[in-house]
Amino acid sequence: MSMTAEELKAKKSELFMEKKHAAHRMSDEDVAAANRFCEGYKQFLDDGKTEREAVSAAVRILEEKGFRCWKRGESLQAGDRIYVVNRNKAVIAAVMGTAPLADGVRLTAAHLDSPRLDLKQVPLYEDTELALMKTHYYGGIKKYQWTTVPLALHGVIVKRNGETVQVNIGEDISDPVFCVTDLLPHLATEQVKRPLGQGIRGEELNLLVGSMPVCCDEGGELVKLRVLEILHEKYGITEADFLSAELEAVPAGQARDLGFDRSMIGAYGHDDRVCAYPALLALCDCKAPVHTAVTILTDKEEIGSDGNTGLCSAYFHDFMRDLAGVCDTRAHIVFSASQCLSADVTSAYDPTFADVNDRRNCAYLNYGVCMMKYTGSRGKSGSSDASAEFVGEVRRLLDANEVVWQTGELGKVDMGGGGTVAAYLANLNIDTVDVGVPVLSMHAPMEVVSKLDVYMTYRACAAFYG
Ligand code: MN
Ligand code: MN
Repeated sequence: MSMTAEELKAKKSELFMEKKHAAHRMSDEDVAAANRFCEGYKQFLDDGKTEREAVSAAVRILEEKGFRCWKRGESLQAGDRIYVVNRNKAVIAAVMGTAPLADGVRLTAAHLDSPRLDLKQVPLYEDTELALMKTHYYGGIKKYQWTTVPLALHGVIVKRNGETVQVNIGEDISDPVFCVTDLLPHLATEQVKRPLGQGIRGEELNLLVGSMPVCCDEGGELVKLRVLEILHEKYGITEADFLSAELEAVPAGQARDLGFDRSMIGAYGHDDRVCAYPALLALCDCKAPVHTAVTILTDKEEIGSDGNTGLCSAYFHDFMRDLAGVCDTRAHIVFSASQCLSADVTSAYDPTFADVNDRRNCAYLNYGVCMMKYTGSRGKSGSSDASAEFVGEVRRLLDANEVVWQTGELGKVDMGGGGTVAAYLANLNIDTVDVGVPVLSMHAPMEVVSKLDVYMTYRACAAFYG
């Protein structure tokens, strides 16, 4: 018995999965709300270009929204809004739920560190009357992308006397900027034969910072001396103070709308502030949740999550132990009943580089927040691979709250891959799945996201907190 065209259409709409641009699945009001939301997000990007600055920006938002700094041992009640800061580089915030803590928490986790060029400990030198600074890149970068773009210096210097000075040069339009130079094409005959990964080598990422000597007829290193004079005048530092500094060269300038239609945002550091901000705002908008709602904004994800501000360390576990301590339960009981959205970006399909993706399984710009059952490399190595049961539960939740969402994976099988903090949280015996915003040009000085996807990540987190 053959089907009529009408029956065929009905059968397909019954049985096939439908994928659509978020604009076709959102009301005009929703699109307007997404655009408004992204104005706040762009401000957050500009305020927090380093993990330290992003923690400060997050704390400002939390305090405006009634959160207070919590000390171990202080008793807590339903509705209490608290945060703790770990070494100025990571923050955990929570809204206490009406259910007992032993019923588990609803946790979102994102990271605030982004790839960049860190200054080495002895950075400053002079060569041929140019002052330069040696850098050591942080995170996975394509080094050639970091040449000939204006860079700003952000960070802290701890002086000999223990005083800490904050540095932020290159963002104000009246500030100078810095850059890594590259070879002119005319003389790059040999350089262009290098493989792309070595087009610029690690030791060639030298920051140009000066060219004017101190006025004196004799003596060497007069340009370096002039730079140190300026730094001494401005910050009271000497060359030795670089030994105890954390200075990060990051792309200078503000987050910008991208495209004639302003549908996207081009900025440095979307990975992973583009998930951190929606998770944070969802927590702030959470009034009286049933389950205690927790957001972790962590550091060191880009270099493997080790170190005492990274999620491989004990700091989150210890926070939960402290929380359990004042709620008459124990951390392992809380973990076993908890759920986590590991909120990190994924790769968006790029038509210019189509062949790295399985088109049936990759994420697309504007198709909403992306849920990834697994990440990892090769045979899912390094991934926590969420269970069908938990993915099913999150799927029902997103659908029930009209969140536009999609699934994705980080490239074709064996093409490369990557991980997130999901595995470290899942290892605590927490049901965990990755959700996040698809990004074009991830880890480049300018990354691109879609505004609708950013907003849908907020909506997913808000639905999850309930
Ligand atoms: Mn990330
Ligand atoms: Mn990353």
